[in-house]
Amino acid sequence: MSISAELRSGESASQSELQLRLSGVIDESVVDGPGMRYVLFVQGCPHKCPGCHNPQTHDFEGGTLISVEEALERIRATLDSDSLIDGMTISGGEPMSQAAALVPIADEAKARGLDLMIYSGYTYEKLLEMSSEDKAIGHLLEVADKLVDGPFVMAQRDLTLEFRGSRNQRFIDLVKTRKTGKVTPFISDKWDIPL
Ligand code: SF4
Repeated sequence: MSISAELRSGESASQSELQLRLSGVIDESVVDGPGMRYVLFVQGCPHKCPGCHNPQTHDFEGGTLISVEEALERIRATLDSDSLIDGMTISGGEPMSQAAALVPIADEAKARGLDLMIYSGYTYEKLLEMSSEDKAIGHLLEVADKLVDGPFVMAQRDLTLEFRGSRNQRFIDLVKTRKTGKVTPFISDKWDIPL
């Protein structure tokens, strides 16, 4: 069974049984989304985009396998001691390949009032389609505030884009998208972000 299939089947598993394959963590980042963010890089990506900046995250057998309980303990310890952090970003790798394991972490972020941003190599429309089979993906789309979607496409690379690598990728305001039913780009007065 592939890791992603294993983790999908983990939807029905209790939180204490869930495991997360992590590539790394950054306690404080200002380059993975607006504001000061705690960043999780998950391990394993099916997209393997040519020119990807994080090729070390592609291998589904790489990184470190830890229990979700342990990941939560580490996250809580950092967030409890660092009042500067106002957001959490889940990047990769492909977060949606481990959606079930990420649900308790996303819920922890939202319970603390953090802004939650997720990167995915799948488009938002594809994720909605996938969510009919993988409820955890649907949950992440329901609780997250922002989504950067789509694969990195070298031919559309644009170094002027903030928080994205190529022009096909969208920085989506999920709160407004859920409200209006129309994919809505993230626009902020607080942060100057080119669309
Ligand atoms: S989806 Fe992201 S992590 Fe995966 S190969 Fe593409 S750019 Fe790299």
